[in-house]
Amino acid sequence: MDIFESLESEVRCYCRNWDTVFERAAGSMIYGEDGREYVDFFSGAGALNYGHNHPALLRPLVEYLLSGAVVHSLDMKTAAKRRFLETFHELILKPRDLDYKVMFPGPTGTNCVEAALKLARKVTGRPHILGFTNAFHGMTLGSLAVTGNSMKRHGAGVPLSNASSIPYDGFLDGGAPDFQWLRLALDDRGSGLEKPAAIIVETVQGEGGLRAARAAWLRELSDICHQHGILLIVDDVQAGCGRTGTFFSFEESGIVPDIVCLSKSISGFGLPLALTLFKRELDVWKPGEHNGTFRGHNLAFVTGAAALEHFWQDRHFEARIAARADQLQAGLARIADAADGATVRGRGLLAGIHYTDANAAGKIAAEAFARGLLVETSGPEDEVLKTMPALTISAEDLGRGLAILAGAAESVTGTGRRTVLKTVA
Ligand SMILES: *Cc1c(COP(=O)(O)O)cnc(C)c1O
Repeated sequence: MDIFESLESEVRCYCRNWDTVFERAAGSMIYGEDGREYVDFFSGAGALNYGHNHPALLRPLVEYLLSGAVVHSLDMKTAAKRRFLETFHELILKPRDLDYKVMFPGPTGTNCVEAALKLARKVTGRPHILGFTNAFHGMTLGSLAVTGNSMKRHGAGVPLSNASSIPYDGFLDGGAPDFQWLRLALDDRGSGLEKPAAIIVETVQGEGGLRAARAAWLRELSDICHQHGILLIVDDVQAGCGRTGTFFSFEESGIVPDIVCLSKSISGFGLPLALTLFKRELDVWKPGEHNGTFRGHNLAFVTGAAALEHFWQDRHFEARIAARADQLQAGLARIADAADGATVRGRGLLAGIHYTDANAAGKIAAEAFARGLLVETSGPEDEVLKTMPALTISAEDLGRGLAILAGAAESVTGTGRRTVLKTVA
């Protein structure tokens, strides 16, 4: 038994599937202490959109540390924070015509969701929040209350209140017009639905099985929110920062959410940082009303600003993501074709394969690890194989990872339709 097993809590998770000690990483590759190398289709669950140790972020970080600049400063003014705010405004908000105020809550995804929920309740004076089936918003009580997964919810140990769940795009398999129940329930004073402060949504359900909302569905959701004075919160913690092809995942739909949550890749380097963005008129906080020790950390500001400057000056990076996304989706489609009933899910470089056999994805991920690829599963039964390569991955590394995945999938789902696979390939 090693120190991880003897000392670290049973709560540990990823290390059980990837049982090796990792030592070094560069770009889309990560290396074990034993010298084995792995293509990384996991990307720190979305915290490493620009790969591991990108030199354009590493260099300014090391220079900052060696310069004697301030590392920790609560929410005091620093040059690093000024540069981050200026860059975020110039390169992200202004070109997209988004007039958001920026709040730095604690540094994790669930921190920025909690801040969003708290603000929505404070602004509207209403306690109830609606979330969606299979949503994931984090592990603290407020975020958990709008999360679907029953195993994670049961971990709370107390009733999760002031929230309820409504069907996400695709949940009803087209069996009812979009939002039929929500429209009727909001208009009917006998429906029993308390008017919510906000509706919180992921445009692609990263943890809940990679269902992607259609742009028209998101627009209808946004319209309903406007009509009823309900705030719309987009949780872009995982799908944001370029993951689906544009900086914000909702850009394609044209909606402008009232509140946006960003974390995972906003520092660009895997350092903890989170933002809650909201329309200017919603900024009703009193000074210090939502406080915390690690709200916006200078090291994360340095790498976050460097990432925006390096990748988001113009549209080139989006074109590059689109090319890799096409390659990924084509590769996944070929792999899905070889298994009965398997379908490709997701959007951009947040994509995967849904298998009808709920055990297939887990077995394929385990086999892929044995062959040198980090890839995880998603969904309530872990029935979806989930790929999330770095946005910076080369065509060659992506091809290499897809080839490993195809081999692993074939060894698990069998060779029944091999001839089809061969001809399509
Ligand atoms: C990961 C994630 C969170 C929670 O982020 P943590 O940093 O783990 O607290 C919230 N929402 C979404 C969509 C996520 O993917």
